[in-house]
Amino acid sequence: MSSTATPLPDTDSLWMPFTANRQYKAAPRLLVGASGMYYRSQDGQRVLDGTAGLWCVNAGHCRAEIAAAIARQSRELDFAPAFQMGHPLAFEAAARLAHIMPAGLDRIFFTNSGSESIDTALKIALAYHRARGESQRFRFIGRERSYHGVGFGGISVGGIAANRKAFAANLMPGVDHLPHTLNIAEAAFSRGQPAWGAHLADDLERLLALHDPSTIAGVIVEPLAGSTGVLVPPRGYLERLHAICARHGLLLIFDEVITGFGRLGAATASEYFGITPDIITLAKGINNASIPLGAVAVRRALYDTVTGAASPNTIELFHGYTYSAHPVAAAATIAALELYEREQLFARARSLSQRFEDAAHALRGSPHVRDIRNLGLVAGIELEPRAAQPGARAYEVFLHCLERGVLIRYTADTLAFSPPLIVEPAQIEQIFATVAEALQALP
Ligand code: PLP
Repeated sequence: MSSTATPLPDTDSLWMPFTANRQYKAAPRLLVGASGMYYRSQDGQRVLDGTAGLWCVNAGHCRAEIAAAIARQSRELDFAPAFQMGHPLAFEAAARLAHIMPAGLDRIFFTNSGSESIDTALKIALAYHRARGESQRFRFIGRERSYHGVGFGGISVGGIAANRKAFAANLMPGVDHLPHTLNIAEAAFSRGQPAWGAHLADDLERLLALHDPSTIAGVIVEPLAGSTGVLVPPRGYLERLHAICARHGLLLIFDEVITGFGRLGAATASEYFGITPDIITLAKGINNASIPLGAVAVRRALYDTVTGAASPNTIELFHGYTYSAHPVAAAATIAALELYEREQLFARARSLSQRFEDAAHALRGSPHVRDIRNLGLVAGIELEPRAAQPGARAYEVFLHCLERGVLIRYTADTLAFSPPLIVEPAQIEQIFATVAEALQALP
């Protein structure tokens, strides 16, 4: 241990989320500081952040402007009730978000996380149909392998089996799933959007015929699926989904918790793909992950329908959180949006994406690599699993890189990369060179 090491804490009391608790606690890995592109680990090492935390610190760590806004606001107004009261920054943050959403999605509901944004979006969809006198529309269509957080709504429409199986008896009824879009035999090593797979959207027609379209409230997908291992939508796929939804009056919900705020080189994936859904769920990069906050951007017509259907002077949507638009989180959001704008970080992501793609695909031919997928500043490298040890190889690559000062992520046997949008070209090279070296070194 170096002289700059921080003492290790007692790890017993904490039940860690999405973590192999026993394995972790046997050899804890701690991050104790951060600045810009780097973390500082417990033993004093600088660690290059190849993942923007958890796909969320898009402007880099500990940005002074955001920290100052948080400090200022926590002295000025620490908390204000969000129900039947308001504070100016809630309205300002909503207006600023509405400004960068696709045209028409200019009504914003605040939550505290991505999971809450999903549940909120599903409820708004149901409330909208009910307000129109179509409360028989209660079903949702999700997609296999999708990740929509961990609320009961989110795991029900989500398609990650491990996240569902312990809770299967109590999942939301009336949910069906589209097939996921990954096909390594057809589309391995696609650069950007695969040319194969648009037809998979047509499966929605099959589900509509099965369930009767007039019972379906909406379809929810991640435009680019992140947590499941970076699944890039085939060319034309989202367009087809959008067209089918429009034809049958289904609401299309894009879960942009990862893709929002520049990850693909535009404010939203919706803007990037040129497809405007009815609802967008947001969190993570909304305020550079500096403080918990999520949001749901809703087409104005939905807001007008739900509010218009209620009797005058009554609450229109029985939903909300104590911390919806928390003043400090709202201040952080305004500061982060200003920072993204001032530093033109979404455009920066766009201009770096070719370089990022080239660096990722340079690992084609490295040992164990089955597939490489990428779009914007996201990439996934899928490895051959080691016999009878799924996930073990990716975990070892992760550890190997961490020991050499580079933080990456892995899901099963897919390595995932999503650096802050301030990443420098040399740092992109360093991330992938470290992985290449790990792949050569490990069995
Ligand atoms: N939706 C997507 C697409 C996500 O990637 C995540 C988190 O990774 C969530 C929802 C859930 O967000 P949170 O962890 O803030 O609840």
